[in-house]
Amino acid sequence: MSLRDFLRQMEKEKEVQHVKDALSTSFEIPFVMKKFDKEGPVLLFEKVKGHDTKVVANVCGTRRRICAGLGVDQEGLYQRFTEAWGSPKKPKTVGDGPVKEVVEKADLSRFPFLTHFEKDAAPYITSAVVYAKSVDGKVENVSVHRLEVLDKNHLAIRLVPRHLFKLWRMAKEAGKDLDVSMSIGVHPAVLLAASSPLPFGVCEFDVANTLMRNDLRVVECEHVNACAPVEAELVLEGRISASKEVVEGPFVDITGTYDVQRRQPVVDVVGVMRRRDYVYEGLLPSGAEHRLLMGLPHEVLIWESASKVVPKVCAVNLSVGGSGWLHAVISVEKQVDGDGKNVLLAAFAAHPSLKHAVVVDSDIDVFDPCDVEWAIATRFQAGEDLVVVKSVRGSTLDSSADQETGLTTKMGVDATRPFTKPKEKFERAKIPGDKRVEAVVRRLCGL
Ligand code: MN
Repeated sequence: MSLRDFLRQMEKEKEVQHVKDALSTSFEIPFVMKKFDKEGPVLLFEKVKGHDTKVVANVCGTRRRICAGLGVDQEGLYQRFTEAWGSPKKPKTVGDGPVKEVVEKADLSRFPFLTHFEKDAAPYITSAVVYAKSVDGKVENVSVHRLEVLDKNHLAIRLVPRHLFKLWRMAKEAGKDLDVSMSIGVHPAVLLAASSPLPFGVCEFDVANTLMRNDLRVVECEHVNACAPVEAELVLEGRISASKEVVEGPFVDITGTYDVQRRQPVVDVVGVMRRRDYVYEGLLPSGAEHRLLMGLPHEVLIWESASKVVPKVCAVNLSVGGSGWLHAVISVEKQVDGDGKNVLLAAFAAHPSLKHAVVVDSDIDVFDPCDVEWAIATRFQAGEDLVVVKSVRGSTLDSSADQETGLTTKMGVDATRPFTKPKEKFERAKIPGDKRVEAVVRRLCGL
């Protein structure tokens, strides 16, 4: 399965908006992406100024599309993830395929990389999954990293001190550069696997392959010691330098504010593999898609952890307003008073970046902010139901955290109905309606 297969499916479901006006990669395309950010369609930019390539964006911009990509509904979503995380399966390596239609020297000026925000330092590649293996070949890793375009064959890569950072350090200690493939335009399952919080040593391509029901194929690169999905649109082959560094940024991170500038390693791009008619995939930093891809796999962690303290966790939402990272709403079926607070503690433990969390009963829709606010308004008493934890480690993305120590204050809101008071006081009043009146409403809504 490929990004193309998914786009064909979305085309059938009328989820693709074709943009036929000629637009520039510098701000114009990102401007349109931003306008369609909330629950918007997939955007296919058919005319890109100065390029004969199409740009696709907002591919994983809604929960519905992510579920469609994995062939599950919202209820089955977390189960699919835990199964795939628990049973990674090596994808088949093939000798040739679509991504090798064109093999060429690196010239980054030829690609429609996007410049997103006003003060961004340069065009950035934001949808690439980066594959690397350890010098001894024992550990493989795939993760998503922003890449700043420096010139025709150099990128700067932001390495958060996680798995790829570790592999790069190991190579550096052995006096070597680290070979990487940077794959752009892959199936949503590959992006989701690459964003999953898996232990060091698990190859995210293997998890993607299980998520895709054994349908991922990889191919060895032409210029570096790495592999890449054979159905990717475009693969940049490079080496993360052991010695060269530059100041990276400014660049906008997930919260929609500019990240601080840091010295980061340079990637020497040594070759390119691509489809002849490749489509370039854009991904708007801090857009709903960015927040969903980062947040959704972490909802699974919260769901698993909360499931250990209450028998049923109905839904988890790392909300878009909380940048898909800092705020969670969790709906549960509690058994006794106090369960709500245990769910909050479990959520904070499962996702250390989480800052504010709300737990609600199963009749509240976690994806509807009005519904959640109603639960807080009618079921929550700050004197009884509030949990505050001071001076605790949180996310570096939180602008309000202590910038020196990184410490923050966490707040949990238990907005579940108290069992000590009569149930009727908390139930939403209903208006009886039969099929006939429902049909009238549907007609009035034009459905
Ligand atoms: Mn990893």
